[in-house]
Amino acid sequence: MKFVYDFTEGNKDLKDLLGGKGANLAEMTNLGLPVPPGFTITTEACKTYLDSGEEPTELRDEVSAHLDALEQKMGKKLGQADDPLLVSVRSGAKFSMPGMMDTVLNIGLSDKSVTGLAKQSGDDRFAWDSYRRLIQMFGKTVLGVDGDLFEEALEKAKEAKKVTVDTDLEAADLKKLVTKFKKIVKTEAGRDFPQDPREQMDLAIRSVFESWNTDRAKLYRRQERIPGDLGTAVNICSMVFGNLGPDSGTGVAFTRDPASGHQGVYGDYLQNAQGEDVVAGIRNTVPLADLEQIDKKSYDQLMQIMETLETHYKDLCDIEFTIERGQLWMLQTRVGKRTAGAAFRIATQLVDQGLIDEAEALQRVNGAQLAQLMFPRFDESAKVEQLGRGIAASPGAAVGKAVFDSYTAIKWSRSGEKVILIRRETNPDDLDGMIAAEGILTSRGGKTSHAAVVARGMGKTCVCGAEDLEVDTKRRRMTVGSTVVEEGDVVSIDGSTGKVYLGEVPVVPSPVVEYFEGRMHAGADDADELVAAVHRIMAYADRVRRLRVRANADNAEDALRARRFGAQGIGLCRTEHMFLGERREMVERLILADADDEREDALKQLLPLQKRDFVELFEAMDGLPVTVRLLDPPLHEFLPDITELSVRVALAESRKDANENDLRLLQAVHRLHEQNPMLGLRGVRLGLVIPGLFTMQVRAIAEAAAERKNAKGDPRAEIMIPLVGTVQELEIVREEAEQVIAEVIESTGVDLKLALGTMIELPRAALTADQIAEAAEFFSFGTNDLTQTVWGFSRDDVEASFFTAYLEKGIFGVSPFETIDKDGVGKLVKDAVKAGRATRPDLKLGVCGEHGGDPESVHFFHEVGLDYVSCSPFRIPVARLEAGRAAS
Ligand code: ADP
Ligand code: MG
Ligand code: MG
Repeated sequence: MKFVYDFTEGNKDLKDLLGGKGANLAEMTNLGLPVPPGFTITTEACKTYLDSGEEPTELRDEVSAHLDALEQKMGKKLGQADDPLLVSVRSGAKFSMPGMMDTVLNIGLSDKSVTGLAKQSGDDRFAWDSYRRLIQMFGKTVLGVDGDLFEEALEKAKEAKKVTVDTDLEAADLKKLVTKFKKIVKTEAGRDFPQDPREQMDLAIRSVFESWNTDRAKLYRRQERIPGDLGTAVNICSMVFGNLGPDSGTGVAFTRDPASGHQGVYGDYLQNAQGEDVVAGIRNTVPLADLEQIDKKSYDQLMQIMETLETHYKDLCDIEFTIERGQLWMLQTRVGKRTAGAAFRIATQLVDQGLIDEAEALQRVNGAQLAQLMFPRFDESAKVEQLGRGIAASPGAAVGKAVFDSYTAIKWSRSGEKVILIRRETNPDDLDGMIAAEGILTSRGGKTSHAAVVARGMGKTCVCGAEDLEVDTKRRRMTVGSTVVEEGDVVSIDGSTGKVYLGEVPVVPSPVVEYFEGRMHAGADDADELVAAVHRIMAYADRVRRLRVRANADNAEDALRARRFGAQGIGLCRTEHMFLGERREMVERLILADADDEREDALKQLLPLQKRDFVELFEAMDGLPVTVRLLDPPLHEFLPDITELSVRVALAESRKDANENDLRLLQAVHRLHEQNPMLGLRGVRLGLVIPGLFTMQVRAIAEAAAERKNAKGDPRAEIMIPLVGTVQELEIVREEAEQVIAEVIESTGVDLKLALGTMIELPRAALTADQIAEAAEFFSFGTNDLTQTVWGFSRDDVEASFFTAYLEKGIFGVSPFETIDKDGVGKLVKDAVKAGRATRPDLKLGVCGEHGGDPESVHFFHEVGLDYVSCSPFRIPVARLEAGRAAS
């Protein structure tokens, strides 16, 4: 196996082997761009090292051969005393892991060669500056010395000299600093800084290998779902120097604006500096456009290279470059990160430039970006006072009064106040407070902290880990620098950027939602441009997708909105909402009924109300399918709370005026109380034990459909039975339903075709799908319940208690309620699809439940061959887009 590739040997498609950085350095080299010569050690070598604790035996010789070739090309030897070749040893994995792994610059400098470098460059200061940088970086990353010790020594040197920037230190100062740094290494690492250049290089290579497995790198990979076994490549790149004086410098640039996609000059430049100085922010950079004045020749060349790169990669690229005494060098490029809005704009811009086609444009955006664009946001033109910034944990813009405990959050929100719950970090006890709050702000914790996970699950705005905030829950206040925010002061938090503001920042609706709602009128040019791009991409997606997209909607208002968002029907209409409010009393009577006539009476009262709901719904969705699910939840949800009622009855009894109805109610409440309501009397079981309940609902649906037909409408109702576990249940309900439908046809004289199907949401249903398909014209996978029953945990009970621990331990990459668990739940779905279709080839198949609007899950449902996904109205555009991406 070959473990080392010269930059001239690789190309951009070899990211698995050469890492992103190495593959792109090779690509640029082969494009004829000015890249300092070098070579790349493969990820395979890294894997061998990590597996066995030793470099592969061939590696040393291969590195020697490539180093020889490099030395010949450069006309000098690594660390040569009178004129040293210096190299950088740079990490670079397949996926970019910013700041996670190591890079060491200026390898090859030693007590001897530093004077050679000084002579050759004619610049003492430069040589000693480079040497102190080497010892600092090497000491920190390779020898594990605390980096602060070097920083402190550097600060002291500046103070002693009464200067503020490192460029004001002279050669003599830097020489002293080198002595100091070497002492630090000796004391802290227990060894001398290595003087042998090859030893420096080999140790640096090994340390890059090892940096793959640091705790922070592991955690980052788990969060970003990057596989842990890829390993990193190592790039050995001959040094070029941006710190050789004012005609040298280093910078970063984008080939177009990563925030808007606009073409232009975007980047930062720093004169007389080495690469890491730009990121470290030790001196102020100038805008890249200023380089034109500083060094016109290099500037023009850079502009031309950026154009070459864009045309070649057919995408926005970001780059790192260095200018050494007027000579431009390219040190890195990659397809650059961009904001959600820019992703849409750039995709359409590139189509217009003829660089990519529409199918490719679809791959350049994703549903998560679209979802981000649909959140309301803060008015950017408003005057704001930013308090700090944390991690953008769950998007949205939330404004409210600061409260520092859940109890106050609940109390204030009950009295109509909007509140932001501010905690150092949250725990399961804060759940009710989090529900009550508009948004959640914490000063500790990352993307998998309790606050972040729970907020995302609830769709609630959250900023976490805003470390500048000093949260003092005891005194009910937080301090940020000199600003004190007391309980009740208004704050605004932006869950899309992580920014925290003092006071109320005005919120504006998303232009993309305005567009979907059909309310988009000409406003800011910027928004128009974004909307036009979204419009075009959605059109591509709709053209190519095979999956249809329906909405979960329970009433006409939601249905109409869903239609505007592009829904092609309703995949789930829950009827339980139709039993609440003032109708609750009728349901109580139904439950309490001892005798048939009592029950029939209650049902008779409910029938016209249900029917009216359906008429409205069928009208709103005229011409499109509407799947109505018969009553699903446990009955106790319609009854009073057991504790409250017990207390009421006990009090009444002590006063000796207990009323008969309350006593009956209490008995019923006791009878229906369940330890595990999720696994109790619900779904089809209700229909089987409460005579007349399902038939009343079927009658309401059928009569509503008949009424719509008489009004020249086109109702397309489908009746769905929930929580079926065996075909027998379905057969009984089916028989009764068919009889009722026949009666309605008979009595109204309207010909009705109502499809009857079932939800597949129990493992047994999935496992016996072949039998169930005998009695069902359609399946709708209820993946929420299926996930609960397959995993054996209830979402309501466990999400807040142990999911963060599971995420931190890497057991989940993401909650199985958010993205379908393909191996477990998904396997059941896949097998049930096959079995169902084997029994009934024209079986219609869909999914309802959160997963229907989750990007990754949509791809899965496309692959297993479902006909449609159904999701909440707001997620419909996301599902349309992802269905298009899955198909193209
Ligand atoms: P990261 O992945 O953290 O960006 P890099 O390997 O790109 O790490 O290197 C860190 C910095 O050092 C960058 O600014 C890069 O441009 C600079 N750098 C790396 N190699 C060289 C080199 N051979 N000559 C000059 N600067 C270099
Ligand atoms: Mg870099
Ligand atoms: Mg269910």
